[in-house]
Amino acid sequence: MEFKDKRVIVTGGTKGLGKAIALSFAREGAWVGVNYSSDDKSASRTEAELEGLSTKSLLLKADVSIGADVEKMIGSVLDQWEYVDILVNNAGIIRDKLLMFLDEEDWDRVLEVNLKGTYLCSRAIMKTMIARRFGRIINITSPSALTGRAGQTNYSASKGGIISFTKSLSKEMARLGITVNAVCPGIISTPMTENLDQETKSNFLNMIPMGRFGEPEDVAWAVLFLASEKAGYITGQVLAADGGLT
Ligand code: NAD
Repeated sequence: MEFKDKRVIVTGGTKGLGKAIALSFAREGAWVGVNYSSDDKSASRTEAELEGLSTKSLLLKADVSIGADVEKMIGSVLDQWEYVDILVNNAGIIRDKLLMFLDEEDWDRVLEVNLKGTYLCSRAIMKTMIARRFGRIINITSPSALTGRAGQTNYSASKGGIISFTKSLSKEMARLGITVNAVCPGIISTPMTENLDQETKSNFLNMIPMGRFGEPEDVAWAVLFLASEKAGYITGQVLAADGGLT
């Protein structure tokens, strides 16, 4: 019960990695607000699983790329829970295309959800963390940010931006008891990766020294570690949970 009564928000927390992170916090006694933007059915399933863990939870439908939605979402959490200890900026999308075929809309949307969403949610939560001189912000980046990947110029730019954002914000927050770190998942079995074709999957497997895709829980533990009290002297870092990939 390392996180008993800690108040956590996980963006994009109803599926894949975000869901595993949310459930892992709840199993450790945290109150968990899970945000999502679409697919009400999987959101309800996640809500039911959280309720089964008999902790407090909130289902938060909001588009993290829209400032007014984010302010409303965080405002409603603060009205009900008074403060938030931990924010996990996990919501993310891909729209992969070679640059030659990448139109402006696909460029903008990926940057808006992944990078602008991280900025908007962090900014909206900061005041309550500063007031209490405690906070943990954990941003989810990607190997694509570190090594690049053909067909992912938009995605890798957004995730590289998240690393730079993490480092700068960690310096702003360091004296206020708030740490800001990033977790870099490798290739993880989630809805985002299940549609990869067989050839891409076996190419990836060949690149992973551990010879297997990660499970969402492999990443969740890295997030929980950085969110823990014990990780209080670690800030501005990127922790890879990637089977040795990067
Ligand atoms: P996923 O597609 O399974 O889930 C994404 C979640 O984000 C969903 O809950 C969705 O509702 C939410 N979301 C999407 N757009 C949103 C928006 N505008 N506002 C609010 N919520 C929104 O994805 P996943 O595979 O679980 O990935 C989670 C994060 O991990 C992403 O940031 C992704 O880039 C990153 N990541 C994933 C992998 C992987 O192998 N799956 C590897 C590296 C990094």
